[in-house]
Amino acid sequence: MTNADYAAVIGLEVHCQLGTRTKLFCGCRNTFGEPPNTHVCPVCSGQPGALPVLNEAAVRLAVRAALAVEGTIRATSDFDRKNYFYCDLPKGYQITQFDAPYCQGGGVRLASGRTVRLRRIHLEEDAGKAIHDRGDATLVDLNRAGVPLIEAVTEADLQTADEAHEFLTALKEMLRFAGVSDCDMEKGSLRCDVNVSLHRPGEPWGTKVELKNLNSFRFVRDSLEHEIARQSGLLERGAGHEIRQETRLWDADRAETRVMRSKEDADDYRYFPEPDLPALVIPATLIEAERAALPELPAAKRARYTETLGLSAYDADLLSSDPVVAHLFEAALETAASPKSLANLIANEVVPALAEPAVRARAEHGHPVAPADLARVTREVESGAIHANGGRRVLELLVRGDERDVDRILQEEHLLLVTDEAALERWCRQALVGREDVAREVRAGKTKAIGALMGAVMKASHGQAAPERVRALLQRMIDESEA
Ligand SMILES: [Zn+2]
Repeated sequence: MTNADYAAVIGLEVHCQLGTRTKLFCGCRNTFGEPPNTHVCPVCSGQPGALPVLNEAAVRLAVRAALAVEGTIRATSDFDRKNYFYCDLPKGYQITQFDAPYCQGGGVRLASGRTVRLRRIHLEEDAGKAIHDRGDATLVDLNRAGVPLIEAVTEADLQTADEAHEFLTALKEMLRFAGVSDCDMEKGSLRCDVNVSLHRPGEPWGTKVELKNLNSFRFVRDSLEHEIARQSGLLERGAGHEIRQETRLWDADRAETRVMRSKEDADDYRYFPEPDLPALVIPATLIEAERAALPELPAAKRARYTETLGLSAYDADLLSSDPVVAHLFEAALETAASPKSLANLIANEVVPALAEPAVRARAEHGHPVAPADLARVTREVESGAIHANGGRRVLELLVRGDERDVDRILQEEHLLLVTDEAALERWCRQALVGREDVAREVRAGKTKAIGALMGAVMKASHGQAAPERVRALLQRMIDESEA
């Protein structure tokens, strides 16, 4: 019996912090990376008698997320208390939505054309952060307590680790483009739990195992692959090797999952309606305002880039997977020459640079490079005034914050190509001296032979002769010398 005999049934739960200025039920700032416990008040630290007040901005972003996945928004939904004790939860309960989430349905389309359905999205507050890696002590930071979250729960529609990866990537892109969240997994603003079971096609679903501690999409994929192999191994061995219903942690260092807790100690959260908050009423006017403000999402961008701009699927994917990149591309497109040259420069110089924290940080406050400069460089490369490598060099400097303008960089870095006809002709004439052999070959149709002369011209011009002009000029001079 092989793994291929079993089908995997995978479901995901995705937590996403909303990019609001303040927390969900108080005025404390929603920040990351600040000194511990500096954004805390009686409400989010759970002091007796403190009352929550709902942040409208969080509701707006939650609505936007629902619209992005085409979910159905309830006009009236409820908040509930989820009761449990943990040191990062000072109130002893989390305010969430249990029976009546604000959004139901919706989905995310995969490249295969299949849609992964969403069961629900609910709005809730984040817990604080317990820090365990400081010797014997556990430290608690409440800056995160009360930060607004949405939790999106899929139907068990996913079948492979790769599909789970693709779904998460697509969902993250949608939420980022919609302006719901930065979805930065390193900051914890996007978090994911996975459940997976195996069964033989046509037979009932098997026992479900939950995977936690998945801090990157790669971990999601790796842990699912490992878990599917582990479960199918147990099923193959048969009696005495049952799959237990449990929660497992992914240990990335050892590349394996291990038991965190079994079903026997599953929690009973004793949900009940939150008495300190009225029902969540989302007016149709708010929904329509958010719908009108919803930016173009990645799938629509991708289609427009390939169908209207004629870009390849690869370029369209690259440009539409990061809002910073897409916005830069579209702003530069207004004055650039061809979308393809622009896409090339962005792919080669801007996208890799954005992986550098300093470049990314500057891009948070605008474009990583002025769109007009990017457009200008693209046009200069296309016209042959600068070499493609020269264009890349200018961008490399601009993206990393070079303060010189494009003209000065071109001059000081000696990137402007010589296009002056008289100078080019002089170099070409010199190169042709004594090379009647090459001229004959070219006349005989071996146009590649011209390369031997190109090298001489580039050497004489210190690499600054515009190559396309030189090639054309040499061809013309050889043709004319025959006559
Ligand atoms: Zn607070």
